[in-house]
Amino acid sequence: MSNIKGVPQNVEDKLFSVKYKPCEKSHLQPTPSDCARCKTKPCTTFCPAKVYVWDEEGNQLLVGYENCLECGACRIGCTYQSIKWEYPEGGCGVTFKNG
Ligand code: SF4
Ligand code: SF4
Repeated sequence: MSNIKGVPQNVEDKLFSVKYKPCEKSHLQPTPSDCARCKTKPCTTFCPAKVYVWDEEGNQLLVGYENCLECGACRIGCTYQSIKWEYPEGGCGVTFKNG
């Protein structure tokens, strides 16, 4: 949904104004042993790009790193602060467009 001037109003709208160039390897490395004991798995809710999804069957955290907006929230929001986080390699990752 957009307002009358066409300015994005919510996260979903804003996600239409970004471009991604995926890297071959993930720049986000959660620690599997911590994820397994993490009761609330807050990363699956606070990430604005829905990068983290808990796979109940596989008992593992799936990481859709290609969609990362590089906001850095998961570096501090992870229950154990154990996500290894780097900026994507040069030329990869997200580009924000104006308008
Ligand atoms: S908050 Fe951290 S420890 Fe918990 S599931 Fe997410 S990445 Fe794993
Ligand atoms: S840096 Fe932001 S967008 Fe990227 S995975 Fe972490 S919380 Fe999600």
